[in-house]
Amino acid sequence: MGLFDKFKEITKKVSEVENSIYNEKLDYLEIYERNIELEKEIAERTEELNDANKRMFTLQHIWDMMNSSTPLENVMEAIVNSTQGELGYMHCSIIRKYEDENGEFLRILAQSNDGLIDRLNTIIGTPGIQTRRLKYSTDSVFYDAMQQRTIKQTKAIDLSLASVLPELTRETVEKVVNNQPVKSIIVIPLIAQKKEFGWFCVFSAREELANTEMDFLGLFAKQIEMAITIADLFQAVREQAVTDGLTGLYNRRYFEESLEKEVQRARRQKQPFSIIGIDLDFLKKINDTYGHNYGDLAIKTIANVLKANARSVDVPARIGGEEFNVLLPGISSQGAMIAAERIRKSIENTEIETIGHITGSLGVATYFEHSENIDELLELTDQAMYTSKRNGRNRVTLAKPISETYWQEVAVNTFLDILSKNRIPKLKHLSEELCTKLKTQNKDEVSKEALYSVADTLTKIYNPMHTAGITKNKVRCAVTLAKRFDLSKEEIDNLRVAILLYDIGNLMLPEELLQKATPLTPEEREHIKNHPVIAAREILKPISYIQDVLPIIEHHHENWDGSGYPNKIEKEEIPLTSQIILIIDEYFALIEQRPYRSKMSGKDALEIIKSDAGKKWNKTLVAEFISLMEHDVI
Ligand code: GH3
Ligand code: MG
Repeated sequence: MGLFDKFKEITKKVSEVENSIYNEKLDYLEIYERNIELEKEIAERTEELNDANKRMFTLQHIWDMMNSSTPLENVMEAIVNSTQGELGYMHCSIIRKYEDENGEFLRILAQSNDGLIDRLNTIIGTPGIQTRRLKYSTDSVFYDAMQQRTIKQTKAIDLSLASVLPELTRETVEKVVNNQPVKSIIVIPLIAQKKEFGWFCVFSAREELANTEMDFLGLFAKQIEMAITIADLFQAVREQAVTDGLTGLYNRRYFEESLEKEVQRARRQKQPFSIIGIDLDFLKKINDTYGHNYGDLAIKTIANVLKANARSVDVPARIGGEEFNVLLPGISSQGAMIAAERIRKSIENTEIETIGHITGSLGVATYFEHSENIDELLELTDQAMYTSKRNGRNRVTLAKPISETYWQEVAVNTFLDILSKNRIPKLKHLSEELCTKLKTQNKDEVSKEALYSVADTLTKIYNPMHTAGITKNKVRCAVTLAKRFDLSKEEIDNLRVAILLYDIGNLMLPEELLQKATPLTPEEREHIKNHPVIAAREILKPISYIQDVLPIIEHHHENWDGSGYPNKIEKEEIPLTSQIILIIDEYFALIEQRPYRSKMSGKDALEIIKSDAGKKWNKTLVAEFISLMEHDVI
């Protein structure tokens, strides 16, 4: 081969190589470009997957909560916070639709914690938007979304705000809307159990939302609807349940309902009932030493003892974690103490695996005997149970009928207050002596005698003819009369205190007026008529714990036909206890000597009272009073 040919061949080869290099380069470029495309796609898919993950996570979060029996408000709160925080919206809220006699309106049920509402509130002032009754306007995105049952998006933030808060001025709305990042609101109607519940509202920083995002929010709203339905179901189931899950005993709600029924029955049949309160001793120690499961086992053990000892009419109930109550219909305190002691022994004798033996502290209280008020009776049961704890646990204590003497404590404290604060100038010289008389009593057993004697002393100041001992009779007579009517123990106790104090206003009147032997002038009569008001509104008003006694005293000269004083009220407007005081006061005044007349026989006094039936007093009260006096019940 000649040189030229060789050269040609080499050139050809070089060209071939060059060609192949070029082609490969093209290939490479192509591959490179394809790679870049792919990477971009992967990045996009990853982002989508991330978004989807976040959404799944949020849904999962909500789903978990829906399965726990969390109250609806908490679930809603968590939903709006997850949506706002995890999905990156500006704000999120759930608005509920309500209806009352004034029509339909809206309220914010839940809102995310992002500061948006705070900012709004600083502009619109108090009350904050969360507590306002919002308008449900037919001219609003909410109405449209609900009517059409579809998702609505609006960029008109100002119009939406003005539709729910029409009271805002244009300037305020502008102030709220200007310079803030929300560009659109998405409103999704929520329908739960075929009812219009409200709206899920999402505030976005973007004006446009992708279709997929809209679809997703729709799906999200479905979850919220399900959460509402589930919460409603939980609520219904909880309300229907009468037993406690751990022990199978009745629950607190059932116990309280039974107690109310039992009070009705006890009053109707005039039969007592008792409550035994039981608290497991040292449960904390059992939990700490052996673990919670053994704590639960101890609780179940007590429950089983209570079940085993209960008659079919008894109501053994778990009131709280380690507290139990048993309601014993028809049982007096004596019977209840025996039942309680049997329970105590039975708890002590039961052997529990690993733990060994446990004990309980018990308290017993009885309706009628200790109190006629449910709350007070439960309080007394609890106090008795705590006395058992204080005295070493594993024992039974009977409630102390403190309420029997409670009115006496109130009366003593009232007298001490009046005397020591010198509320009545006329008593200054007597204060020390009377205070000593009241204070020497043992606080737990305030003597009624001391009270009556102080009341008698005070009465004697404005009525020197007052006979010592009359106050005691008045109280006894008033209480016996009151018990013939449907008055509660508190009302009767208030009456007792009122009887000791009702004429105390007289101590502020001038001496010569009180002692006048000749008939009073009309002006003088008017002056004397101030005494109920002086007592209630001047002397006793500052004493906080006798506020319920004040109306009884203020109205103790009102007549049934409205002709009395000071307010000329009539019939049922007058407290029955005031009417009782009026009749007792009249009777005891008539049988006592007065500067302007001699004393009367009991029989004549009753005749006078009878003649005023229907005028001063209601006829039933007079009839009961006469029957009491005639049959010597007092
Ligand atoms: P005391 O004898 O004074 O009653 O002591 P105590 O430890 O029983 O009472 P305390 O009131 O100090 O503690 C009660 C404990 O009972 C605290 C609480 O964790 C526990 N507890 C309440 N309910 C349950 C429950 O359902 N199961 C278990 N295992 N423990 C409970
Ligand atoms: Mg305990």
